[in-house]
Amino acid sequence: MRVLKFGGTSLADGRRIRRVAGLVRRAARRHRVVVVASAMAGVTDRLCELIDEAVAGRRVERGVDALECRHVGVLEDLDLAHGRPAIDATSRSIIELRRDLREVASCGNCPGHIRDRIMATGERLSVEVLTAVLKTVGCPARVVDGSEVVVTDDRFSEARVDFQATRRACAGLRERPSVEVPVVTGFIGADSNGRTTTLGRGGSDFSAAILGAALDADRVEIWTDVDGVLSAPPQIVASASRISRLSYEEATELSHFGASVLHRKTVEPLVDRGIPIVVRNTLEPSHPGTEIGPDSPSSSRIAAITAIREVTVLDVTRAGVRPSNAARSALVLGPEDEILMACSASSDGGLLVATPAEKAAGLAHRLSDTAEIVVTNRGSASIVALVGHRLGSQPRVAGRALEALGRCGLTVRAVAAGTSPHALTILVERHELEAVLTTVHAALRLDGGLQGRCQALGSWEVGYSRLAS
Ligand code: ADP
Ligand code: ASP
Ligand code: MG
Repeated sequence: MRVLKFGGTSLADGRRIRRVAGLVRRAARRHRVVVVASAMAGVTDRLCELIDEAVAGRRVERGVDALECRHVGVLEDLDLAHGRPAIDATSRSIIELRRDLREVASCGNCPGHIRDRIMATGERLSVEVLTAVLKTVGCPARVVDGSEVVVTDDRFSEARVDFQATRRACAGLRERPSVEVPVVTGFIGADSNGRTTTLGRGGSDFSAAILGAALDADRVEIWTDVDGVLSAPPQIVASASRISRLSYEEATELSHFGASVLHRKTVEPLVDRGIPIVVRNTLEPSHPGTEIGPDSPSSSRIAAITAIREVTVLDVTRAGVRPSNAARSALVLGPEDEILMACSASSDGGLLVATPAEKAAGLAHRLSDTAEIVVTNRGSASIVALVGHRLGSQPRVAGRALEALGRCGLTVRAVAAGTSPHALTILVERHELEAVLTTVHAALRLDGGLQGRCQALGSWEVGYSRLAS
């Protein structure tokens, strides 16, 4: 069985949805297939804005009308037999959306369970459209709501998955083959009370991995708008090149440090069963893409550079006369806190902490609740990560990257190496991020494909022991 996930970029409009339907029909002729679909491009962002507008008491009717038109517009092009039921299902979702937004407007706030129900609308609409288009092109298909097959806790907007319960909920999909291709809403689960939850922004990749594991799939395919995982964010580094193979560890580091092509939790459910992930381009389906799997390169290498643009830097020190190690403050971190980088190397035992910008206020608050801890906000920055198999132990990588930055007069605020063997992180000025990525990418010759990656590291050999065979 194969799980095929299509992102919002692949479902941006009727033309792209028809292209996706063609790909699914072809795959379904040769394999058992389960499809996972995101919302159409931009729809989840729009739902987010509608929530904010409703909370602020502004009118949202036009915004909802526009969403309905966008989906119905694709369905009206289909023949009635397939289009009509989907138009009816769309109207039902839109009625629920209006009702929820009215409730938000009347309370002046949006409780977590309502927020998740609203945010889930994008996927609930897109699967109706994709399923109807599939039927129109002669591929029998049926809608499956993620809330029926993905069981989570009730941490709304970042729900945690109960993998055992999810496996049980997927028994029907796993054991009863059907001629109809299941088209599952990505991003969505439900708690034990049946309330809709969501898995975090960009979470449809994670949905595909959850289902891949629960269904013992042979592979999970992530179909998107680029040729695979690239050596740098392509919107910043024009010469970014495709990486043909990545290990699970490399892919995990890349997604953790901002490579949005893969949601950061995607790899985890697949590791135990060794299920490969293939990242492919919907616009170039003949392209081989990137295969992510259990095998590691036979020796050290550098694979890619990635970045998180918006981080906040906090200085954590201890008040009082005796210098002491503020790293102890890490003990007070809660599950909601996220540390992207932490360095402590000064005589006063102070700790520099970089955290995602949206989590900085909460973290600073929790840290300064601890006796004697003083937290100073040192402003915004960006984190750049170099990722590659066992790269952390290779001095030449840090040397070349830092030398290139120095030559161009670019500021390095901190460097962390050694915590992960596969990543080296550099804290840089946010306004210099583009220059840093371009400079280091060029200095390490990442645009030259495998050959370039080899040369960048001198005598290092680049290769996969088993994957290459
Ligand atoms: P989808 O809608 O298919 O989920 P996303 O926008 O979430 O697509 O992810 C694909 C995008 O990720 C690409 O268009 C690209 O701009 C961005 N991206 C960032 N870093 C990388 C990378 N290292 N390799 C490939 N794409 C990347
Ligand atoms: N539609 C959701 C989002 O935009 C999930 C996804 O696209 O993966 O975050
Ligand atoms: Mg995505």
